[in-house]
Amino acid sequence: MINELDSLYREIILEHYKSPSKKGDLPNAAVTVEGNNPLCGDELVYQLEGNPECITKVRFSGNGCAISQAAASMLADELEGKSAAEIITIITKLKAMMQGQPLDEEEDLGDLESLAGLSKFPVRVKCAALSWNVIEQALKQL
Ligand code: ZN
Repeated sequence: MINELDSLYREIILEHYKSPSKKGDLPNAAVTVEGNNPLCGDELVYQLEGNPECITKVRFSGNGCAISQAAASMLADELEGKSAAEIITIITKLKAMMQGQPLDEEEDLGDLESLAGLSKFPVRVKCAALSWNVIEQALKQL
């Protein structure tokens, strides 16, 4: 299915899958939250340091398909230095994007924008959405 995506987006996804950002453990994490997508067998653990005013450090670990692990890496890249409220705004935009809504020009979701093509593949949206579903749980516990 990944071959059906635009080649630029495919490249960004595969790059994050092969060389993930922020992969690892945080021994002093404020929260550790895990989740899974049973439809595909994807598993993710996110760890955050900081507080609701500023998430200072993010790491993840997990197993699963390229899309789930690439999305986890892309999202982790966007979180450090932001507040919980700012992250919830990003997640709201992501959810709209995955339902096929175009982003406004001034909105910048970084490499996460490469996931937009998945909106045509609802089963794969669940692979990507695992990452922000876990982050939403983590923010509630922060
Ligand atoms: Zn998957």
